[in-house]
Amino acid sequence: MPLHIETPLIESRPMSAIAKRTINLKLDALQPCGSFKLRGVGHACEVHHSRGAKRFISSSGGNAGLAVAYAGRVLGAAVTVVVPETTTDRARELLILEGADVIVHGRSWQEANELAHTLIAPGDAFIHPFDDPLLWTGHASMIDEAAKTTRKPGAVVLSVGGGGLLCGVIEGLQRNGWDDVPVIAVETEGAASFRAATLADAPVEIDAITSVATSLGAKRVCSQSVAYLKTHRIESVVVSDKDALDACERFLTDHRILVEPACGAALSLGYSPPLLTGYDNVLMVVCGGATATLEQIRAWRQAL
Ligand SMILES: *Cc1c(COP(=O)(O)O)cnc(C)c1O
Repeated sequence: MPLHIETPLIESRPMSAIAKRTINLKLDALQPCGSFKLRGVGHACEVHHSRGAKRFISSSGGNAGLAVAYAGRVLGAAVTVVVPETTTDRARELLILEGADVIVHGRSWQEANELAHTLIAPGDAFIHPFDDPLLWTGHASMIDEAAKTTRKPGAVVLSVGGGGLLCGVIEGLQRNGWDDVPVIAVETEGAASFRAATLADAPVEIDAITSVATSLGAKRVCSQSVAYLKTHRIESVVVSDKDALDACERFLTDHRILVEPACGAALSLGYSPPLLTGYDNVLMVVCGGATATLEQIRAWRQAL
């Protein structure tokens, strides 16, 4: 039994009406820990567990860390998550609720990640938030489910942080014979490391993350996501924080689901028809995210 659940795939009537084309939603915001991350992280944790791992280590204060904590609790393994001081109280609270040991260390993710690596002992498995083939294989299950429930989409729209979701979706498209389905990869300004990689034709490090979409905040995307540019049609789209936040508000009204701006970035394409010109029957990955409250989303919007 996998740790993730099969999620609903529904049409968004409001988006279809605005975009004048069919827009379907893969509702991965409904995974038990609030994001698609459980697919890949759950798969990786299960594989390590079956090989004898007794403890999982993560350095993500976001949805990846939450998924590791969830997987550990369900599998009966210990979980240690090292997070930087900047991690919100909300995120720490959610990690503790899942029973993880939370260590707060360092001013940035780099420092937390370094400490996490020094903790790895025999019997431990480090779970990377996006750069691991086990993760991609797990994320691909999302497309297996879509292939069972809907006809071939004209395009898949998704958000890109470190590129794990992108790699998983492309693996899923390819293993379901949907190789020719283009992927529209959406980021926010200030977190556009995939766009930077497409321009450089290599994974490059961007200077800083300045977007409110913290779950997209990988300064450098994984190499596989860039390698896919050669074998799969991928279009890079960059939207503003305002677009992402507006989409969060609108999606909450339309579908009664609160998502992070990281997810709002992808959803914003459903609310701005020109960006989908040329595509019909669009599949939107509602990747979700549990770390932003409605108050936080409104405060970000006010501050713009
Ligand atoms: C992790 C995450 C992303 C980005 O996924 P990557 O695999 O890092 O590209 C997007 N949205 C949410 C809510 C996430 O948690």
